[in-house]
Amino acid sequence: MKYVSTRGEAEILDFEGVTLAGLARDGGLYVPESIPSLDAETIRAMAGKPYADVAFTVIKPFVGDTIPDADLRAMLKDTYGGAVFRHDAVAPLVQLGANEWVLELFHGPTLAFKDFALQLLGRFFDYFTAKRGQKLTILGATSGDTGSAAIEACRGRENVTIYMLHPKGRVSEVQRRQMTTVLEPNVVNIAVDGTFDDCQALVKASFNDLKFRDEVGLTAVNSINWARVMAQIVYYFTSASAFGAPDRSVSYSVPTGNFGDIYAGFIAREMGMPIDKLVIATNSNDILARTLQTGSYSKGDVHATLSPSMDIQVSSNFERMMFDLSGRNGSAIKTYMADFADTGKITLSDAEISKARAVFEAKQVDDKTTSEVMAHLQQATGYVTDPHTAVGIEASKLLNADAAPRVTLSTAHPVKFGEAVQSATGISPELPSHMADLYDREEGYAELANDITALQTLILKGVGQ
Ligand SMILES: *Cc1c(COP(=O)(O)O)cnc(C)c1O
Repeated sequence: MKYVSTRGEAEILDFEGVTLAGLARDGGLYVPESIPSLDAETIRAMAGKPYADVAFTVIKPFVGDTIPDADLRAMLKDTYGGAVFRHDAVAPLVQLGANEWVLELFHGPTLAFKDFALQLLGRFFDYFTAKRGQKLTILGATSGDTGSAAIEACRGRENVTIYMLHPKGRVSEVQRRQMTTVLEPNVVNIAVDGTFDDCQALVKASFNDLKFRDEVGLTAVNSINWARVMAQIVYYFTSASAFGAPDRSVSYSVPTGNFGDIYAGFIAREMGMPIDKLVIATNSNDILARTLQTGSYSKGDVHATLSPSMDIQVSSNFERMMFDLSGRNGSAIKTYMADFADTGKITLSDAEISKARAVFEAKQVDDKTTSEVMAHLQQATGYVTDPHTAVGIEASKLLNADAAPRVTLSTAHPVKFGEAVQSATGISPELPSHMADLYDREEGYAELANDITALQTLILKGVGQ
């Protein structure tokens, strides 16, 4: 499998190359040259199989021959077949109502769905750096969950140093502590005086500074890294096959920020999964919902909400989606992204927007409704859910439950957003036993102005240049 950049000008790479590169050198994002499809028999055979086995079938065509089958199987078993995820089903389905379900994606080490991709990515980094005898500097920005999941995936890994930016004072205490209490020398937490979009812009600017990028061997763990999207395709397959795919269709509602998780659902659909609709569930940071409604992708202000992991106005992975909507036209995307950099706005063509509407629906859910959903669900069923999932559950109501099972992706454990859960439901979720002492652990992090030079100086010093 070969990978091309959404902007059409970067070097074509294999899976190993894109995993280590993260962002493409022309500023674009890597995507597979073509999307592999799985036939009905292969999909039918997934029902009831262990998660790691389904993962092999889904992931193998993307990995190509960069990892021998036996090694890939071993890595998948190590990630999804043992003690990393604390639930035997790895991604269990829970029924909430007639034909209404949540897919719990929070049984990993940091209690959010990002563990699914990052635990695997950490193992890929180890594998490829050992093979090449190379060191990596990982730079990421987090609105909360990416940071802890990436740190957990990289801590203690020999050839990897991770720098993680978070917007100071804008992540929950559990999220911050999950990052800042990891004190391994290969982990550097940085609190930036700014928003998540500022952090993401610092990361992008560092990647676009090719001299700096080469000097420190920079790699991305944000969902701009293709391997993350790829790993997230798997749970659409395990869940849809539990509902009888390929012979029965399923719809998903996905709490959305950077468009990575839902884009993985789109790829699953392209691969042959009978996914009826994908609902883009957003909080009041609703750039994606507005895009689908109006055809115009235009940046607004970032608002702090009860679901902070979705407090994002610029969704990196949407560039991958636009690439598909444009008929995989790299030069069109290059023009779009240049327009966006100049004006903060992209106007999609009628053909592009109607293609998107054939697959996606979208709904924005405000904080008041989010709290009401958490409270009502707890009263009606006893189920306690986190605010991101609540946004998804509310948005799933757009779907016709008679047409297909409605599945909302539950992206975080309620304890990660304990205050919001407590004030909506009166119930204070408890930390699982492996994290019970989180509030007693020592924290360590650097503070930094929203300034690219200060960031690069810090990293250069860290890698000894
Ligand atoms: C990251 C995150 C999201 C958003 O996922 P994207 O792939 O960025 O769209 C939603 N919910 C939670 C809890 C998250 O951590």
